Amino acid sequence: MKWKNKGHEFDFVKEISRFKKMFIFGAGINGKKMYDISKNSIEILGFIDNDPLKQGSTYLGVKVYSFEEFQSVKSDDIMVIITVFDRNEVLNIIKQMENNGFKYEQNLFDIKNFLPVYMWYKEQKLITVRCTMSVTDYCNLNCKYCSSFTPYLKNPKHTNLAELKNNIDCFFKAFDYIIGFNLIGGEPLLYPELDKIINYICDNYENQLGELKIITNGTIKPSDNLLGTMKKYESVIKVYISNYSHFLPHLKDSVSKFVDCMIKNKINYLIPVPDKWWVDYGRESVRRDNTSEEKLIDIFDNCNIWCRLLKNGKYYYCEHDGLALNAGFVDNDSGFDLKCFDKKDKPLLLEYSLGYSDKGYVDLCKKCNGFPPINKNYIPAAEQVEETRG
Ligand code: SF4
Ligand code: SF4
Repeated sequence: MKWKNKGHEFDFVKEISRFKKMFIFGAGINGKKMYDISKNSIEILGFIDNDPLKQGSTYLGVKVYSFEEFQSVKSDDIMVIITVFDRNEVLNIIKQMENNGFKYEQNLFDIKNFLPVYMWYKEQKLITVRCTMSVTDYCNLNCKYCSSFTPYLKNPKHTNLAELKNNIDCFFKAFDYIIGFNLIGGEPLLYPELDKIINYICDNYENQLGELKIITNGTIKPSDNLLGTMKKYESVIKVYISNYSHFLPHLKDSVSKFVDCMIKNKINYLIPVPDKWWVDYGRESVRRDNTSEEKLIDIFDNCNIWCRLLKNGKYYYCEHDGLALNAGFVDNDSGFDLKCFDKKDKPLLLEYSLGYSDKGYVDLCKKCNGFPPINKNYIPAAEQVEETRG
């Protein structure tokens, strides 16, 4: 979106104070986050969930309604917050609700946009949902379509620890709270000071952090120091294992040892069912140099990518754009500079964080298919290329 009323784009949200009651759509982990954050400031009447197994039960001591049952109790003074993260599911729920008298962004909101705006206007707290920081450019794999462009970086390096700490300080000076902060690489376990940066984040900012996720390919044996740190902060740390051994069978043994190590050390981890396909951002095929500004803004707005990036003291709305800049794939730096951040800039940062900017899009939109569901192009997951570094 292009800024039209800088610093006041969300003033209309002040009207949400008329709502005295809330339903949360989605009785899951994000529903819990919404519940925890808002339970002291608004009456939460219940959860709504389309999963029949959850309907009729309670979650966090609150009733879980089916959509049909919710229809019979709804009233004019309630708002509904959608807390599922899958974009297709969100669009389906918006349709379901709008067919039954709700209006998106009037009395029906998506947590990703709603929560930061609500917390700012209600409590003057600046929060963001998700942000990523890369600790190293190095990886032991060479995925052809790596979203960090890892195999193509000409001068890969570990990011200096002091620089990472400075990024973290800038970030938490600007934001009061983040739901999920991700450490990525390349492969973050190749970073020799990973334990130190985790310690630094948790020692200084644990109370501003919902979850600290380490996203790894699960093939590198964690050092004793790292395991100790993960155990020390078990309440916030989650290790997310991107398991590529289904496509790269030679990794099976190391991934299996890694998982055993997580279990043995009682470290919170997640190993999702591997996707056979990755989204094709169209790095080689998309060129929109002659596309109008209006159309580029349209692509950006519809893309609605929700993971941000922290790099070089700057906060990037689109993680891919920030990583592409690092790889020299785009020239223009679209990041919001946090290095000289002043409290009075918080409304601007809130708006930037939700997609507003002077241009209304980022340069990578000229070379990118976007994020699902606008992008329906897929490529084989974890396909490897020969070493390409110079
Ligand atoms: S494992 Fe593959 S996708 Fe992940 S950082 Fe390494 S090269 Fe990139
Ligand atoms: S279209 Fe691509 S570059 Fe543009 S915001 Fe979406 S993911 Fe980022």
